[in-house]
Amino acid sequence: MSLLGRLVLAVTRRRLVCRLFTAGGWGRRVATRFVAGEALDDAVQVARELNSRGFLVSLDHLGEHVSDARLAVQARDDYLGCIDRIAAEGLQANISVKLTQLGLGLDDSLAEQSLRALARRAAAAGTTVTVDMEESALTQVTVDLYCRVQADYGNLGLALQAYLHRTPSDLARVLPLGGHLRLCKGAYDEPEDVAVRRRSQVDEAFVALLEDLMACEETRPAVGTHDHRLVAAARRMAATRRNPFEFQMLYGIRPSLQAELVAAGYPLRVYVPYGDSWYPYLTRRIAERPANMWFFARALFGR
Ligand SMILES: Cc1cc2nc3c(=O)[nH]c(=O)nc-3n(C[C@H](O)[C@H](O)[C@H](O)COP(=O)(O)OP(=O)(O)OC[C@H]3O[C@@H](n4cnc5c(N)ncnc54)[C@H](O)[C@@H]3O)c2cc1C
Repeated sequence: MSLLGRLVLAVTRRRLVCRLFTAGGWGRRVATRFVAGEALDDAVQVARELNSRGFLVSLDHLGEHVSDARLAVQARDDYLGCIDRIAAEGLQANISVKLTQLGLGLDDSLAEQSLRALARRAAAAGTTVTVDMEESALTQVTVDLYCRVQADYGNLGLALQAYLHRTPSDLARVLPLGGHLRLCKGAYDEPEDVAVRRRSQVDEAFVALLEDLMACEETRPAVGTHDHRLVAAARRMAATRRNPFEFQMLYGIRPSLQAELVAAGYPLRVYVPYGDSWYPYLTRRIAERPANMWFFARALFGR
């Protein structure tokens, strides 16, 4: 993450800024650039529209680091409802979930039971569950939990962050379990001993990991980036691949590139966040693209 990105995170995480931004309807309106809306109905409407244009979807009910077990159980139930809705509407969609939203860090066994419940319900609905990757303090426990549940259900996927020094060994560990593995650059501000920090190094690491991922025919690689050079590298690697893979991009980011890839015949899944806990998601999107700061500041001071 750039210095400016870190500054953006520091500013946007101040309580006063958060309160100013989340208090009125105007903050919510700004968030709709990246978030489908607050209700499941909003997400379903966006998913339907994306499906009709040939996109696959992953629904993310926003939330992370819940502060008590009741909220973790509520998050699980909301996701169960989301899976039921995917099945009822016949959507070409799966779900993406953060383990701290299911209680990881608070009650790890509750988080595991909840992930198992989601995997079971998703299997019955003919869909899958992708586990998002959060900050590096949680990588080990996330990978461990993923491996246990994936070994039993087989319909999970995991996000892996190219910037982490440890990711090549995590990839080697999870590859034999099949599943869909989403490679992304990594969105958190990590120290140098944990992650590479220069953009060129992150890109190099991404390409090296992608080569291993695309060479494995037993898994379904998901290329999670809007970086056109990495998209081009994936397209080159795909030429020699026998089994399916997909691109994944975030709702609201580079929609023309998304449309171009679908028009060229590539499967592309749009990650569609929804829910009322949109603020931390929004601040990460702003921090990784400091140009967004002006759009944030305009909204903050010009409301
Ligand atoms: C489907 C998906 C799931 C993800 N899941 C995770 C996860 O589980 N854990 C995690 O740590 N990270 C996750 N990420 C985020 C990822 O790690 C990066 O932070 C993010 O994708 C930006 O990196 P980039 O590869 O798009 O490259 P960049 O070099 O950052 O961006 C390439 C281009 O994309 C556009 N762009 C990128 N970001 C933005 C933005 N915020 N606003 C406007 N334009 C932008 C710009 O045109 C930019 O030049 C996910 C990303 C995707 C696409």
